[in-house]
Amino acid sequence: MSVERREVLRGRLRALGFDVVRFAAAEACGGDRVALEAWLREGMHGEMAWMERTVEKRGDPSRVLPGVKTVVALGVNYGARESGGGGPVWARYALHEDYHDTMKAGLAAAGRVLEEMFGVSGEDYRYYVDTGPVLERNWAARAGVGFVGKNAMVISREHGNWLFLAAILTRVEIEPDEPLRNRAVAAGEEGAVGLLCGKCTRCMDACPTQALVRPGVVDSRRCVSYQTIENRGVIPRELRAGIGRRIYGCDVCAEVCPWNRFAQDGRGVLLVARRELAELTLREILQLTPERFAAVFRRTAIKRVKLAGLLRNACVVAGNARDESALPELVRLAGEGRPLVRAHAVWAVFRVAGAEAAWKLLGEALERETDEMVLAEYRAEERAG
Ligand code: SF4
Repeated sequence: MSVERREVLRGRLRALGFDVVRFAAAEACGGDRVALEAWLREGMHGEMAWMERTVEKRGDPSRVLPGVKTVVALGVNYGARESGGGGPVWARYALHEDYHDTMKAGLAAAGRVLEEMFGVSGEDYRYYVDTGPVLERNWAARAGVGFVGKNAMVISREHGNWLFLAAILTRVEIEPDEPLRNRAVAAGEEGAVGLLCGKCTRCMDACPTQALVRPGVVDSRRCVSYQTIENRGVIPRELRAGIGRRIYGCDVCAEVCPWNRFAQDGRGVLLVARRELAELTLREILQLTPERFAAVFRRTAIKRVKLAGLLRNACVVAGNARDESALPELVRLAGEGRPLVRAHAVWAVFRVAGAEAAWKLLGEALERETDEMVLAEYRAEERAG
């Protein structure tokens, strides 16, 4: 395809709301696959077993779409504003309607552009946003959207660390764009990670739970985002303090990155902001009923953690904040409902009230206690006391 035609396509996809549109040749990514396999072997994916099941496809796009020629790497900037004042802190991306849904509408429209411009059918492309067997981050680096920083994020010169990524695999052959600097070759090869980081290690130093174990390598099991979103069970006690006021996700390794200085605001075309969520107080969250949770978080990605997951996280935040106004709710939650929430509420009551008062406040509930998960928290406090 001529470069002129490629630019027409880029312009049309940008007009749909994608802030970045770049193209890469759809070759097998041996280096990326090796790195992914090593990461999986070390167990750094935690409980995300689906990542193991899709390694082959992630390493070779022709296993996803036979005959694929091009990967269209797309980005939508979401980083205009920080989350909240003194209350619970939400990952910036979460303060929108679920980006999977809003971006999929744009991707469906992008598919129609391919059909119209190149006479292909819906069989000749597939699109993914975050949930398919595609390494969006690596394709973004190959296509020159940005480089993979030591924080394992794609960092764009124009958009900093704040891009939602998506990919379209297509049988249409499109002239590829250059990756950042020719010598970057391909993300996943040694030397490509941290390409424009220089000597900076701010993200690795700032991570509150030391989850960046090597440049570009996140141990999910230690990551606040993983623990507050993907983990559906008990948050390890030794990581809870590091979670601080972060109730859902974490932006620390992105926020400290100096490349954000150059980041423009996004156009917000494929996003629907839900800023009002940042106004929720910790008490309001601790008081959520199933009905209210469903109404407040409708159409957001946050609903994925379900009410129990959010209450669990809110207990951790309340414990870290030593928030005495939350104590009545914490005591109530320690005695009723799901063991997962109760266990974290017990932990929080000890942090907020202090051991002596906590034993008194929870004594009655403890006498009735039989659930192993909740008892484990009491035993741990006993040992600590
Ligand atoms: Fe690279 Fe520094 Fe940004 Fe981390 S904070 S990704 S080391 S530039």
